[in-house]
Order: sequence, then structure tokens, then C-alpha cells
Amino acid sequence: MHHFDYKNGEYHCEDIPLSRIAEKVGTPFYCYSHATLKHHFEVFDKAFESVPHLICFAVKANSNIAILRLFGKLGGGADIVSGGELHRALIAGIPPEKIVYAGVGKTRDEIRQALKAGVLMFNVESTQELLTIDAVAAELGVKARVALRINPDVDPKTHPYISTGLKQNKFGISWAAAMEEYRQAKGLANIEITGIHKHIGSQITQITPFADALDRTLALVRQLKDEGIDIRHVDIGGGLGITYKDEAPPHPRELAEKIAPMLKETGCKIIFEPGRVLVGNAGALVTRVLYTKVNEGKNFFVVDAGMNDLARPSLYGSFHGILPLSAEANERKKVSADVVGPICESGDFLAKDRVLPLLRQGDMMAVMSAGAYGFSMSSNYNSRRRVAEVLVNGSRFDVIRDRESIDDLIRGEHVPDYLD
Ligand SMILES: *Cc1c(COP(=O)(O)O)cnc(C)c1O
Repeated sequence: MHHFDYKNGEYHCEDIPLSRIAEKVGTPFYCYSHATLKHHFEVFDKAFESVPHLICFAVKANSNIAILRLFGKLGGGADIVSGGELHRALIAGIPPEKIVYAGVGKTRDEIRQALKAGVLMFNVESTQELLTIDAVAAELGVKARVALRINPDVDPKTHPYISTGLKQNKFGISWAAAMEEYRQAKGLANIEITGIHKHIGSQITQITPFADALDRTLALVRQLKDEGIDIRHVDIGGGLGITYKDEAPPHPRELAEKIAPMLKETGCKIIFEPGRVLVGNAGALVTRVLYTKVNEGKNFFVVDAGMNDLARPSLYGSFHGILPLSAEANERKKVSADVVGPICESGDFLAKDRVLPLLRQGDMMAVMSAGAYGFSMSSNYNSRRRVAEVLVNGSRFDVIRDRESIDDLIRGEHVPDYLD
């Protein structure tokens, strides 16, 4: 579900034609729908209303502080993976007691920063990390609340780059070592065990992997309770997929029908870490055709957005729907074309061999489902300025991130004086 559609011959986000925003901010830009974001959060929240829970939005999916604030105002927290994300979440007004901190490579500085902020818990991914958290907490004279991230060795049946819960993946603590690890944590003076965590992957479109991973996790929770290790928070991670093309992921309600009874039985507070499902279809990347050409019978639409702006097609071969902003253009005869960016790499494409209306120089298009892992993965490769981000709410829109300036590109660079 989203609030992008043709009205009066023009592609709109809510009540605003995207072409009008393009006139003001130029192209390319990311556009997000406030109504869609809010709707997605509320649908997820409602689906799990029968269990005590906290929705910690996965900040890495879309890190803009306006988006974080929006979810914060709806009662959400944050799932962070770095000190930088912690900073963003706090600036956005997310209370520290609603922040969970995962990631395999937390530094001592980041751990210190999170302890000082008073985050809800660390999701610990290794023995050495656990010992480091204990040591840093001792230095600060505090207790660190932790959950251990357990790798349930369940196949999420998604793209290998976004599978995280198989035993060959780098994430978490292996299933076999989990009990021993908890016993060790229990003996550490500055560690307070509060929970258990798992996250098996992303863009998951079936219920079974969630249910299987949960089954294994809850068995462990029971075993821990038997040993007197009190688990109060069960954090089941994120990973619910969305429709990019023709995937049919379960609705949060369907997922809840299957797993809410299991969750309820734990008597614990349940933490969810949805990312993509909240923001993915709430955003589009708007880009303009710079040139069209035909090489050896193959059509190329060269656009002003590249793999540095939206990496997913190059990185995972992912599909993003493409729609011209003018309904007239959308009615033109169809051709097969590659939509490519200006970057000097053959991997720089937004779509390959795609059947699209015959676009012309100057036409604009919306690259759909770009709200998750879009801007947040973007880079300055080829010394391109990162694009503007815009939030639409009804008939108003706000720039929530300025397009970078040419000076931003060289900020912090220095030429040693011997090169004078
Ligand atoms: C990436 C990630 C998420 C969010 O995943 P989505 O597929 O976007 O829902 C949640 N938790 C952890 C630990 C992650 O690494």
C-alpha cells in the first residue's frame, strides 16, 4: 500500500505532482509519503496489539532524522548498528530506553557512547564483544543490559547477501554455543541479561522461516528460564518483505496470526525491528532522462540518478518499478530498454531489459519502492553530490535533506604543504 498514483495526467505523491517538487528541488531526489509511512507503522503496531511490544525501526533502512522523528512520535523506538545511528536516533528525539543496539563490530567508543546514553539493550554478537561491554561498563561504573543475538540457523529463503541467520553467516552467536554463552554472561559483574535477539535476514516473503526461527528461540528462552536466567525481552528482529514486483509477502496481520500466540506465551515484552516493510514502498527516487540512444538495436535511457544514488539494482540485481511522471508518456508505445546512470561502471543501472514506454530526453520518472536502503546506502562515488530528500504530507512538502553542495564534496580533505 502506498500513496503514489496518477491524478489529472500527472504522477502524484499524496496531493502533489512529483513534477512540481522537481521544479523546486531539481532532480534526482527521494520523495517519501508521510501518509504511507504512518499507515505502515500503524498497521504493524495494530497487527501485534495482543502482545506487549515495542517497534524499533531499523535505522539503517532510512536514517533521515525527520523519518525517525515521525516513527518516534507514533511510539516507535530505534534499532541501531553504529554510534552514528545512535546520534541520529537521539537527535530525532527517540528515548534511549527505546533503542536497541546490534552489529558485529561495535567499538569501545561506541559502546561507551551507548552506555552513557542509556540504551535499552545491546544485542551482543560474540564472546569478545560481551567481555568488552562488561569492561567498558565497569569503567563507567554501570551495568550494561544485554541480549545475546542467537543465530537460529534457519534459511530465510531470500537473497544470499541479505540472509543473516544461517550458520555460515557472520551474525550472532551460534545456536550450539548459546547456553554456554548465557552462563558466562550471567557471571559477569557489569552485565545484566535482559533478553534474547535474533534476526534472520531481509526481504523475507514467507511466514515459515519466521515461525521456525521463533520456535528455536523460544525453546532456548524456556531452557534459560529453567536455569534461572530471566529473559524479559524477546527481540525477533526485522526482515518482513515487501512487493517490489510480484512478490506476495504476508501482511503483518497474517504474520501476527501465526506468531503472536507463540510470542504471548513467553510473557515477555516483544521487540520488533522492521525496516523495509515500514519505509520501502513509502519512497520513490525521481530522476530525469538526460539522453536516449540506441546501440546495436538496444535502447538506453541515460538518467541523472546512478548506482551511487540507488545501489540496490547493481548490488542485488533488485527490481524497482519505473513510472514516467506524465500519464501521457506512460501511454506511449513500449520498448525494451536499459535505464542507466551517469557513473563510469557497466554495473550502473536502475533497470535492465525492462519493457518501458519510449521515453524522451527531459522526461522524468519515478523509481518506485526506493524508501528502504535507498538514500541510506547512497555514496559520493564519481564525486556526485548526494541527492535531496523530500517528505510529502497531503498538499505540502518539505525538504528533509538538502542536496549536497559542491563544497560538501571536499569537506575535510587537505593537501599536505609539501605539495604546495
Ligand atoms: C537490517 C536489520 C533489520 C531490518 O531489516 P528489514 O529487512 O529492513 O526489516 C533489523 N534488525 C537487524 C539486526 C538488522 O540488521
